[in-house]
Amino acid sequence: MRLICNITGESYALDATRWCSESGGLLDIEYMPDLDWDWVKYLPANLWRYRAALPLAWDAPEVSFGEGFTPLRKVYFGDKWAWLKLDYLFPSGSYKDRGSTVMMSHIKSLGIDTVVQDSSGNAGASLAQYAALARLKCKIFVPEATSPAKINQMKFCGAEVIQVKGSREDTAKAAYQAAQQTFYASHVWNPFFLHGTKTFAYEIVEQLNFKAPDTLVLPAGNGTLLLGAYIGFKELKHVGIIRKIPKLIGVQAANCAPLAEAYHHNQGEVSTEIQTSPTMAEGIAIAQPMRGAQMLEYVKITGGNFLTVEEDEIKETWQELALRGYYVEPTSAAVIAGLKNYLAHFAEKDEVVASVLTGHGLKKAI
Ligand SMILES: *Cc1c(COP(=O)(O)O)cnc(C)c1O
Repeated sequence: MRLICNITGESYALDATRWCSESGGLLDIEYMPDLDWDWVKYLPANLWRYRAALPLAWDAPEVSFGEGFTPLRKVYFGDKWAWLKLDYLFPSGSYKDRGSTVMMSHIKSLGIDTVVQDSSGNAGASLAQYAALARLKCKIFVPEATSPAKINQMKFCGAEVIQVKGSREDTAKAAYQAAQQTFYASHVWNPFFLHGTKTFAYEIVEQLNFKAPDTLVLPAGNGTLLLGAYIGFKELKHVGIIRKIPKLIGVQAANCAPLAEAYHHNQGEVSTEIQTSPTMAEGIAIAQPMRGAQMLEYVKITGGNFLTVEEDEIKETWQELALRGYYVEPTSAAVIAGLKNYLAHFAEKDEVVASVLTGHGLKKAI
């Protein structure tokens, strides 16, 4: 198990206190676990049942609220249906807890006592809650326009919150500056976060009786769920639990769609001159995704695609979901608007499609 730089290929020990490589590249974890599934079924129904498949030191603490193993529901849209993973039911109200619980456990095992982070909301709210559990100090940079409910949630858990004027990218820059002194617990940079979100794949496969869905429709902002899901399914395929990695469909808001644009122009990287306008789907409003090239690559490997949804579709789907008992936030509704498009126009008969409800609606102050 090593940390590998995505630019130079240089590697570091897993317990190196770093969140990027010497040359400033992204780090990934070289790791291929195998699990004793006969044993797993006797373990508690939370994501830590897959601990033996996580790249943590044997003595790393579990910074955990017993999260995970969220319900998987069969939901109809017209005469088609899909599996929906109810990840808005996590302790802090979003799937980000999958990443935070594993990343924080690793950070705690390194003996670090203060972290910085940047977030458009949920990643910060999640980190604040897990930092408090791990008794770490936590400083979070957020864009000025972040929902007050999310800012309150961070402060309530004891985090110091710094509101940054300008775009989401300006916030990322401010955090990057602060990270020159303090450990950067970034859900985008830190690869341990992705080994937390990969439990999404492990859970679905176990819940579907050791079968993978044919297709996954997922949000495409920074891609922390999409990339994690890919890692998880790749591991499960490698050890022979499933035969095929699902086709990955990334959903973006039409108002901020750098990945869809790059993919449809057959480019391996996101353009630095992308035009965007505001969207209700604040959680995926990422004009410059740090791991964009990786997302484009993984989606291509699986024969997937990127879909975009308009603001009125997001709004309509948001209300539809609420009236059907799923009070989620608009970002989650954007994913389901994409799912509905996919089911109506692309899915084949008998294709098994799965998607996710990512974040709770009560955080969204209207
Ligand atoms: C973070 C977030 C997303 C999308 O994030 P990715 O980094 O692309 O996985 C989607 N929905 C909600 C509610 C989020 O908080």
